[in-house]
Amino acid sequence: PSAIKDIVLELPETRWSDIGGQQEVKEKLREAVEWPLRHPEVFRRLGGQPRKGLLLYGPPGCSKTLTAKALATEAGLNFIAVKGPELLNKYVGESERAVRELFRKARAASPSIIFFDEVDALGLNREGDGRGGGGNSTGVLTALLNEMDGIEELGNVMILAATNKPEVIDAALLRPGRLDYILYVGPPDFDSRVEILDIKFRKMALGEDVDIDVLASSTEGYSGADLVKICDEAVLAAMREDLQIESVQWRHFEMALEGVKSVITEDMVRRYRQW
Ligand code: ATP
Repeated sequence: PSAIKDIVLELPETRWSDIGGQQEVKEKLREAVEWPLRHPEVFRRLGGQPRKGLLLYGPPGCSKTLTAKALATEAGLNFIAVKGPELLNKYVGESERAVRELFRKARAASPSIIFFDEVDALGLNREGDGRGGGGNSTGVLTALLNEMDGIEELGNVMILAATNKPEVIDAALLRPGRLDYILYVGPPDFDSRVEILDIKFRKMALGEDVDIDVLASSTEGYSGADLVKICDEAVLAAMREDLQIESVQWRHFEMALEGVKSVITEDMVRRYRQW
């Protein structure tokens, strides 16, 4: 089986406005990526050096993938997504070939962005504990670093990587000229939770007793993904009660809240912030 068929070019439709909160992340990416692409003459005249590699890190479900897609859409970049572990579970030599093929496709589709989700998986085996991913990560990592270092000649290909475990990322990936622009994508605060819920609420039929502020204050420590899940569970609770029902009521959200627990702790956030 060829590694090539795993590589899929996407045309995401996610906009910045689909992401609640994360104002700082959005602004920084607009500056670092959109400006140089939109105004290349100004950028060159002033002597700017385009960013090649960016890393988004933070707890699960807080919009890293969504951000990568929105960046592609808004900056007009073709989008290719791969997960770190997908590159490892291949026969010896094939992973390296898959990496080269990936960059070849990205160059052919440039301006483009390669999104490496779970990029930490590519560093795990360097200490040689022999576990996980088929023991092949050194070769993949080397192939990846080679491609990244050669990217200037390769035109407009940008690398955007994401991880929940920044502390296990191989240091070689973070050197200057590689993934050297690092952004924290944290859990939503109250105002951001209101924004995320508002985006979701626009597509829902809601009863008058549903108060967005009350829901936002009952969901401290929940990720954006958790909030969306709560809304979807509330829809199911309403349907379960009565298939003729016209809107989702507050009691359905209460039921949903019991089923979906928050996973992001203060301690977790502190550890991310210290990295
Ligand atoms: P993981 O680390 O688990 O891959 P992630 O940080 O990449 O997670 P996403 O895949 O971007 O998270 O988010 C999962 C889903 O949660 C999104 O598809 C979206 O429905 C919802 N979501 C998360 N954060 C937000 C947000 N800020 N605004 C709107 N929706 C959000």
